[in-house]
Amino acid sequence: MTEVRVRFPPSPTGYLHIGGARTALLNWLWARKNNGKLILRIEDTDAERSTQQSIEGIIDGMNWLGLDWDEGPYFQTDFSDDHKEAAEKLLASGHAYKCFCTKEELDQKREAAMAAKKDVRYDGTCRDLTPEQVAEKEVQGIPYVIRFKVPQKEGKVSYQDKVLGIIERAYDDIEDFVIVRSNGKPLYLLCNVVDDIRDRISHIIRGQDHMSNTTRQVLLYQALDAPIPIFAHMPLTLDLQKRKISKRSHGEIVAVQFYREKGFIPWALCNFLALLGWNPGTDQEIFSREELIEAFTLERIGKVNSVFNYQKGNAKFFTDPKLISINEHYLRTMDIKELAELVKQDFEEQDIWNEAYDGDKREWFLSTLDLIRDRFHTTRDFATLGRAYFAEDYTVEAKPLKKNILKHPDLKSRLPMLAERFAALDDFDKETTESASRELAAELDIKPGILINGMRTALTGQLAGPGMFDILVALGKDRVINRLKNINHLYN
Ligand code: GLU
Repeated sequence: MTEVRVRFPPSPTGYLHIGGARTALLNWLWARKNNGKLILRIEDTDAERSTQQSIEGIIDGMNWLGLDWDEGPYFQTDFSDDHKEAAEKLLASGHAYKCFCTKEELDQKREAAMAAKKDVRYDGTCRDLTPEQVAEKEVQGIPYVIRFKVPQKEGKVSYQDKVLGIIERAYDDIEDFVIVRSNGKPLYLLCNVVDDIRDRISHIIRGQDHMSNTTRQVLLYQALDAPIPIFAHMPLTLDLQKRKISKRSHGEIVAVQFYREKGFIPWALCNFLALLGWNPGTDQEIFSREELIEAFTLERIGKVNSVFNYQKGNAKFFTDPKLISINEHYLRTMDIKELAELVKQDFEEQDIWNEAYDGDKREWFLSTLDLIRDRFHTTRDFATLGRAYFAEDYTVEAKPLKKNILKHPDLKSRLPMLAERFAALDDFDKETTESASRELAAELDIKPGILINGMRTALTGQLAGPGMFDILVALGKDRVINRLKNINHLYN
C-alpha cells in the first residue's frame, strides 16, 4: 500500500474552531494509525482575510491538543508558481480557456436567465474562441479569467467516498468554473488540488460542506493527470435546533481556545471531538490515545449530521454536557503528576504557586490534588474552588456561609473551642481529629454535623467536598487551628 499522507489545511482567517480541530484530529488519527504523515498546510492565499494572529492561534491550538504533524507548516502562498504553472498546463492541454466576459455582461445574462427561469450558469461564450480571437482580445488588453472546461458529455463524474460510497454528479450539472481570477490569482479549488498533488496526499478527510468542491476537484485531478486521492467526508455539526455551530449563533464556545481557558484537559476535548461524527460501534466513550488510534476507521465516520448538544450544564457555561462529563472523567482518573502540570500555570496566575510544590512539598501537593479532584469539573477549579487548600485568602461562598455558619451563632465560640481541642492533640490525624470533634459535640450537646459542617465552611469556604477529616489532615494542624480561632470575620 502506498504511504498514507493526510493533511490539515486551515485557512488562517480566524481562531481554531472546534470543527477545524475535529478535522485535524481525524486526519491525525488516520496518519498515526497507518504510520503515515500528517501535513500542516496553511491556506493563506486569501491575503485580505489571512492573519498572522490566526496562524499562531492554529499552531498553538494544535500543540495544545497534542496533535503533532510531520511536515510543515507549509504556506500556500509559497507555492504560487506551482498554481500558475498548473493553470498554464490546463490551458495548454485544452482543459481550460480564457474567458473575457465582463462582470456586467455576466450579471446581465444571469438576470435575464433568472427572469426567464432558465439555467443561470455560465453560457460558454468564450469556451470555443479560436486562438486568433483570443490573441486579438489579449492585444486589446481585455482582462480575462481562466475557466475550467468541464467535459461536455453524457454521464457523470464520480468518486468513491470512504464514508458515503460512490458520489456522482452529472457533467452537465457543473458549470465551467473559474480557476484563475482576472488579477492572475489562482482560486482555492485549483490551489488546493495542486498542493495536494505536490504533497502526495493519499486521503482527504474533510467536512461534507466541501462536497460540491470535490466533484469539481476530481475533474482537475483528471485533467492534471494525477491520481485521485481517497475522500472521506465528515458530517456537519449542528446544535439541537439544527443550526450549524458557529461563532455568530453560539459565541466563543466554538473556539478551541475557549476550552483551554476554561480548564479543559486537551485529550478530553479530543476524545469528545472524535465522538462527534465518528462512531466506535460500541458503547465505549472514553478512549486513550492508543485506543482511539486503534479503533478509528474511516468507514465509521458518521453519514448524518452530528449533534453538539449546546446547553448550560453544571460547569456554569454553555457547552455539550458530554464534553463536561468526559473532562470530569479524565480529571478524576488521569495521572496525578500530569494533572499537576496542567494546574501549575493556573496556580501561578492566581498567585498561589509555591516553588516547594515542585520540591519539599511535592508529595503533599500531589496528594491534596488527588483528594480534592473528585468534585471538580475543570482544571481551573483547583485554584478557585480549591483555593483554601493552598492559600489563606480564600472566599467563603454565600450559600454555605448562610447555611452552616450564620444560622448557628454559637459556632462563633464553639469553633475556637474545637481549635483548642485540636491544639492539645499529639497526633493530628483522621482518627484523633474525628474523636475530638465528636467528643466536643457530645459535651456541648449538639449534633456533630453542626460542628463538622461549620468547620467545613470555615476551613474551605465550600458546602461540600472531601471527607472532613481528610481535609483537616491535608490542611495541617497549624492552619486548621488558626482558621478555627479566627472566625469572627465570617459573622461580619
Ligand atoms: N482551507 C480549506 C478550509 O479551511 C481547506 C479545505 C480542504 O480540506 O480541502 O476549509
